[in-house]
Amino acid sequence: MRYGGIEAGGTKWVCAIADGPGRLGQTDTFPTTQPGPTVSRAARFFIENGPVDVLGVGAFGPVDIRRGSPTWGTITTTPKPGWTDTDVVSALRSELGVEVVLDTDVNAAALGEWRWGAATGLDTFFYITVGTGIGGGAIVNGQILHGLLHPEFGHMRVPHDRQRDPFDGICPYHGDCLEGLASGEAIRQRWGHAGQTLDDAAVWELEAEYLALALVNLACTVSPERIVVGGGVAKQPALLPLARRRFRELLAGYLRVPELTEPDAIERYLVPPRLGDRAGVIGALELARDAAHE
Ligand code: ZN
Repeated sequence: MRYGGIEAGGTKWVCAIADGPGRLGQTDTFPTTQPGPTVSRAARFFIENGPVDVLGVGAFGPVDIRRGSPTWGTITTTPKPGWTDTDVVSALRSELGVEVVLDTDVNAAALGEWRWGAATGLDTFFYITVGTGIGGGAIVNGQILHGLLHPEFGHMRVPHDRQRDPFDGICPYHGDCLEGLASGEAIRQRWGHAGQTLDDAAVWELEAEYLALALVNLACTVSPERIVVGGGVAKQPALLPLARRRFRELLAGYLRVPELTEPDAIERYLVPPRLGDRAGVIGALELARDAAHE
C-alpha cells in the first residue's frame, strides 16, 4: 500500500509520499496562502507523484476532527484570515478518491516524534510548537489525546505581569493568552522584529518566562513523561536553556521524581524534536500507515 501525508500548517504545507515506515520519499513544501490554491497544489502533488491509497492530514486548527461530525475536516475559529469555516479534506478526498485520515498538525507531530523521534518508548508525553502560533499535541497512555475536541495548548491563560510586560497580546479571542503573549507573531509585534533575529537578552528572558509557566501548567495537569519543544521560535539557542532553568525554579521541587530531580534531568525532560521540521509530515504519514494497518 502507498500512503501520503500532509502537514497542513498555518504557515506552510508539507506534502510527502512514504518511502517505507518513517521514511520520506518525494516531498513538496509551499506557503499556506488561501484555501483554494493551497488545497489544489497539494492535490496536484499527489496526482503527479501518486497514486496513494490512504492520505494522512495533520491540519492547523482549531479543526473538527470528531469522526462522524457533519463538519468533520473543517477548520473552525482560526484567526488566520480567509480560513474560517474552511473544509480542508473534502476537496482532497473527492479529487484524489482516497481515504483521508485527519488529526491536528501538532498531534501528528507528536505521533511522529513518538514513533521515530525524541519520545520513543514513552506512554505519555506532550509535543509543543512555538512558532508563528503556539500549539500542542499529546500521546496519553499510548493514544493520541483528543478529548472534547483536541488540546489547545497555545490558548491557555498564563499570569501576565503588566508592569514587566505592558503588551496587550495579539490573540483575537483572548488577547493575552499564551499564544497572544509568546508566539512568534507576538514577539514581532511587541519588539518590532521577528524573534529569530533578535539578540536581546530581555526578549528571551520574557519569552522563557511565559514558556516555563505554560510548561509547568502542563507538567502539573497532564503529567507527561517528557515534553518536546519544537517550532521556529524554539530554535533560538538561548530559549530552551532559559526555559529549563525557569521551569525548575517554578516547579520548586514539588514533583519529586528522578526524571525531574537528577542532575541534568530537566535537559532530558524538556527537549528539542529529533525529527526537526519533519515531525509533522512524518506524523501525517504515520496517521495514514495506521489507517492502512501496516
Ligand atoms: Zn488565545
